[in-house]
Amino acid sequence: MATKDYCLPDKMNFVESASPLNSSNASRNDNNIVQPIEKDPPVKNKRGMPSEYSHQGTAEDLGVLKLKAKENGLTFKDSVGRNAYFDCKNANCGYKWKCRLNDDLFYEIFETIEEHNHDNIAARKNGLTSRQKEIIIHRINSLKAVNPKVCLQAFRNEGIRSLPTDLQVRNFVYQQKQKSKKKHTKALQR
Ligand SMILES: [Zn+2]
Repeated sequence: MATKDYCLPDKMNFVESASPLNSSNASRNDNNIVQPIEKDPPVKNKRGMPSEYSHQGTAEDLGVLKLKAKENGLTFKDSVGRNAYFDCKNANCGYKWKCRLNDDLFYEIFETIEEHNHDNIAARKNGLTSRQKEIIIHRINSLKAVNPKVCLQAFRNEGIRSLPTDLQVRNFVYQQKQKSKKKHTKALQR
């Protein structure tokens, strides 16, 4: 089977030239869909090649650095001399950080140009980290202001550098208020 699929260059050419003219109702013939067999999965295309880095930011100390890394879906891997290295938890992902302690004893963070190649970094993509949520819930419960500006300031006060957007904060606050409203109405109905 495989060898037969391999040698269909004529058929391929025919399909390529014919389909643009007649693409809407091109009759699908499975024999025409010949995928070249790749030895390496495409995900690992950067493996073995030196990664390119760009400056991402700074961190005051190793604790803050680790926290920031965690917020970006990375885990501490190694430190050599003044350098600290962080990798993605996902082994197939090429996103990583190389951090260097500078003479002012700040960590300079460099991230790979290559981004996360998956989207299960829940904290970044879908909203807030659990710590950020805790802070907001606490503010709601103690009847403090929860507009994006004060929430982001509260995060900064805790040394959180990787901040959500105003909209993410607003959405979360809204969700929480809806939740507590429901609870409240249930309580009244009893
Ligand atoms: Zn990743």
